[in-house]
Amino acid sequence: MKSKVARFEQPVIAVKTVTQPANLRRTKKDYTLVHVSFQSTGGTNISTVNTLVIGDDKMRTTTSKNKKKRLSGDEPSLVQCKDNTDRVSYAQYLDVKQPRGKKSRLCTGDLDLLKEHVNSMKRVGKAACQWCGEMTFMRCELCKKHVCLKSDTSATTLSCCCIDFHDDLKYGLGFMDRKELYQTRNKNFKKPTMTEMKKNKTHMKSLMLKYYTDVEE
Ligand SMILES: [Zn+2]
Ligand SMILES: [Zn+2]
Repeated sequence: MKSKVARFEQPVIAVKTVTQPANLRRTKKDYTLVHVSFQSTGGTNISTVNTLVIGDDKMRTTTSKNKKKRLSGDEPSLVQCKDNTDRVSYAQYLDVKQPRGKKSRLCTGDLDLLKEHVNSMKRVGKAACQWCGEMTFMRCELCKKHVCLKSDTSATTLSCCCIDFHDDLKYGLGFMDRKELYQTRNKNFKKPTMTEMKKNKTHMKSLMLKYYTDVEE
């Protein structure tokens, strides 16, 4: 297996400490602003407030055995795009694109891998489809996740769920991604609009481009 691509390979990092004027001190705290931008994508910029400070805290909690907190704190977060919409970050994409010890869920550019996923599907107990949220008996055994295989209305038509769930360009839009990455409650899940599908695709294309550039280097 390929090694995990260096996530922060040659990023441009700007650190700025913002000190509040004396008259605002009581209401506003000083903070550290960290701006990270990856040179090769053009589209991926991450700005984060107080990363350095949180990092220090995290080290302390690590040593003071709060493992659970550290793990959840380590989760990479979403990035805000130019249209003010939060979408998946490169780090989140890498976690799914190159998982440790198993095959990637995302198959765009690798139809053989998609075939393996679809062929692995088995009828098991009923649970929510991790793409559309509707109930289904079918589970992808490579991912160990439920996804619809046949469409509701026709027993012979392949459902889009088992394809879309494995599509890099749609990463971040499905039922499971919304829950895991956006903390969207199940009952609040909505299928993405056509506009968002399109915008997500453009965003994911830039992450894919960076990924394939990094892998080839
Ligand atoms: Zn799968
Ligand atoms: Zn489904």
